[in-house]
Amino acid sequence: MNLILLGPPGAGKGTQAQYLIERYGIPQISTGDMLRAAVKAGTPMGVKAKECMASGALVPDEVVIGIVKDRLQEPDCGKGFILDGFPRTVAQADALQGCLDQLGRGLDGVIALQVDEDALVERLTGRRSCPACGLGYHIKFDPPTVADTCRCGTGLVQRDDDREETIRKRLQVYREQTMPLIEYYQQAESLIVVDGMLEIETVRDDIQAALQAG
Ligand code: ADP
Ligand code: ADP
Ligand code: ZN
Repeated sequence: MNLILLGPPGAGKGTQAQYLIERYGIPQISTGDMLRAAVKAGTPMGVKAKECMASGALVPDEVVIGIVKDRLQEPDCGKGFILDGFPRTVAQADALQGCLDQLGRGLDGVIALQVDEDALVERLTGRRSCPACGLGYHIKFDPPTVADTCRCGTGLVQRDDDREETIRKRLQVYREQTMPLIEYYQQAESLIVVDGMLEIETVRDDIQAALQAG
């Protein structure tokens, strides 16, 4: 199963990826997570990406395209993959297409999660994540059992870019650079539009039903 999760920041891509990993036994490829790891480790790529990420802008296409190309060739992607947060520009989508053609693989679905902007801001400001295992939570919509603590026992943190000014900038970047991909994949006939405003479990079931039908 080769999937893309498409949607604005806060749409629920990471949340739904967790279910898809379990259901299909395929890895999540989150460019955001990979870039944050590079920033933390202080690699040359991390140094390049840091400022873009902090301001809410996109990291240059060639940087992310390079990471994804390498990642898709790793053995655990043999059964499939879930791209989360990539592609985000038409140039990235074209590069992905070229890479998949080369590998002789296609896409089984591009899942577009649709969520209103006001809801996105509320989701992102209340988002918390585990710095150890990467699991995501929401203070109101998906709270941890023990306050501020992951089920693995680690204290939860808030991402630096999940603050209101940066959120507005990221949403603008989404509208300008990523939204055109909806039409891109509609033309390729691989688009599955899902109402991301519903509850987490309902969205999960709707995605599952659409993938089974397809
Ligand atoms: P993305 O990966 O698309 O940026 P996340 O999966 O991290 O989004 O979700 C953003 C925040 O919204 C998280 O705190 C998550 O717990 C919460 N969330 C995700 N899906 C829903 C939903 N359907 N309803 C309410 N909150 C949600
Ligand atoms: P969210 O789903 O909440 O928008 P991500 O974790 O996917 O957040 O991305 C965080 C940041 O990492 C983005 O704002 C951007 O700076 C950078 N980034 C992630 N994926 C890409 C990509 N495909 N192209 C360019 N920049 C990216
Ligand atoms: Zn954890």
